[in-house]
Amino acid sequence: MSSSVHTHSKVQEKTTREPLGHLVLSHALKDAGFKGEVLSDKKTLELYATDESVFSINPQLVLRPLDRRDVEVAVNVIAEQTKSFPGLSLTPRAAGTGLGGGSLTDSVVIDIKEHLNQIDRISKVGSKVTFTAGPGAMWRDVEKELKKYDRYLPCYPASKQICTVGGAVANNAAGPDSLRFGHVADWVESLEVVLKDGKTYDVKPLSYKEFRKLIKQKNALGEIAKQVFELVESNEETIKRAKPKTSKNSAGYALWNVVTPSVAEFKKGKGTFDLTRIFSGGQGTIGIITSLTMRTEPIHHDTSLIAVPVFNLSNASRVVIEALKYNPINVEVFDALTYDAAMQNPQFFRDRLPSLSYYRVLLSMYTTYHVRWRRKLPEFVLLITLDNASLKELKKPMTEVIEALRVRGGPSARLIQNPNEREMFWQVRDGSYLLSKLLDPNKRPAAFLEDMTVPPEHMAKFFSDIKYLLKKYNVTAAVHGHGGNAHFHFYPLLDFTNRTTPALIVKMSEEFFNVAVKYGGNICGEHNDGIIRTPHLSKMFSKNAIKLFEETEHIFDPDDIFNPGKKVHPRFDIKSSIRKVN
Ligand SMILES: Cc1cc2nc3c(=O)[nH]c(=O)nc-3n(C[C@H](O)[C@H](O)[C@H](O)COP(=O)(O)OP(=O)(O)OC[C@H]3O[C@@H](n4cnc5c(N)ncnc54)[C@H](O)[C@@H]3O)c2cc1C
Repeated sequence: MSSSVHTHSKVQEKTTREPLGHLVLSHALKDAGFKGEVLSDKKTLELYATDESVFSINPQLVLRPLDRRDVEVAVNVIAEQTKSFPGLSLTPRAAGTGLGGGSLTDSVVIDIKEHLNQIDRISKVGSKVTFTAGPGAMWRDVEKELKKYDRYLPCYPASKQICTVGGAVANNAAGPDSLRFGHVADWVESLEVVLKDGKTYDVKPLSYKEFRKLIKQKNALGEIAKQVFELVESNEETIKRAKPKTSKNSAGYALWNVVTPSVAEFKKGKGTFDLTRIFSGGQGTIGIITSLTMRTEPIHHDTSLIAVPVFNLSNASRVVIEALKYNPINVEVFDALTYDAAMQNPQFFRDRLPSLSYYRVLLSMYTTYHVRWRRKLPEFVLLITLDNASLKELKKPMTEVIEALRVRGGPSARLIQNPNEREMFWQVRDGSYLLSKLLDPNKRPAAFLEDMTVPPEHMAKFFSDIKYLLKKYNVTAAVHGHGGNAHFHFYPLLDFTNRTTPALIVKMSEEFFNVAVKYGGNICGEHNDGIIRTPHLSKMFSKNAIKLFEETEHIFDPDDIFNPGKKVHPRFDIKSSIRKVN
């Protein structure tokens, strides 16, 4: 097995920038037949220096491959040139909507969205519908095509209008309906990836027989599969223990999902060996995805929405735990600040709604506040979507469900039957991130505490600790998220032009993350590790688990050419990499 000492020296070398190396690279790429654009002008580099995270890091070169062959050429050339210039590396980027800095680098960006964005086919075999697309295909375009088949991708992130399917796979993203339907990784059928040798391979779940056949092959995938299997086999207990206990997670490499149900059972011919489970969520650190095939789910048409205003935090866990008994499709949440921001900024909804609907939604918003809530904002509003078929199976009439979700001392759970009210609640929930920007125009909602999740039974205690810390730091943060998973997106409003902000971010991360971990929680529910969370993974994982992640990365990428500094071996200095404009 590879030693982490060996990788360490390489990691050190990766910290040096290589101006000459990048100059040589431009020529080497053209000589090797790279057909796409190779860009290094100031404007382009600035464009690729930021994503939706708190960071700003200028790359040295941006590549826009025209096709899979170009990706292979880029990997080959970098692999060759890194022998002379060890600071060179290749970081894939899709729509750049990531919140942790996953697509940022000080070396070479390879933009997958620009050209590898076609939807190749939708296949229907019996009741199973799958689609195959380039990783740069926009989620919204895939969704539109799937709708023709009355299907959707239930693991959709809230950013589905602005992100790609490939970026979502690489981040192992998740969203509202993940409460019932899991993460993006759970919907991946197969992937096409370019590995360290610059060749393309098909990766999919394999039976024991297929796995035995693969490891006999003398190629990169065969060798990698053999080594990953050995790693899992000799560390099965450590890996089992490392699996986060929260219902959502995108931290680390999901080694616990590679050999299922167990090594012993797999060797008897049961279950699968599945490397898609670590390419999903791998953030481009172990190879580059060039095509993907995913499964889909029928659209649920017959659903009911229940809204529960929670005025007393101590009721929150009870309502969520009760709601989970009804197998909900989602249980979403937003807080008082978000609703207040919506009421203070009616113009926010003007572009988002046709005019008649706009007035109806506003009327519903103010009526809810003034009449139903008697001019008192609830700490949280929980939105619970149930599918009526499940309720029928459970033999639960709606009146009983509403009664069980009641909270004492104020307006309680209600079935939302009026379409304008339904629209109003979803407009506020979906707009919550952008609405928080309106709370203070001189500040920016900062994504660094935005992915913590705890077991639902600890929700109230977790929240009161967080409220205490926000007060201590004198920081405002609107909150929204996935209540059913007790998964919260906090975006503290910070002024990035203030020179003390980077130190504040470092200090707050440390303290807030410790609170999540104290309650058996997770600092990385769905947005992945990126630059911001990688240095903190030791809070969630044991030393042995982190070592296994490092060994996994090394098996796929011994020369550390794929997106170094993310998921393992943090290498970016957080303070000096933080953006300086709002
Ligand atoms: C308002 C807002 C709401 C959001 N809501 C959610 C949410 O509900 N759930 C959620 O999970 N996320 C959410 N996000 C974060 C982000 O939008 C998602 O994770 C999204 O899926 C990332 O897709 P992207 O195309 O922007 O990928 P990028 O940000 O470009 O890339 C993501 C990561 O994947 C790697 N990568 C990209 N392409 C490839 C490839 N072809 N091969 C290998 N690696 C690759 C990159 O290096 C990077 O590490 C939100 C972001 C915003 C701004």
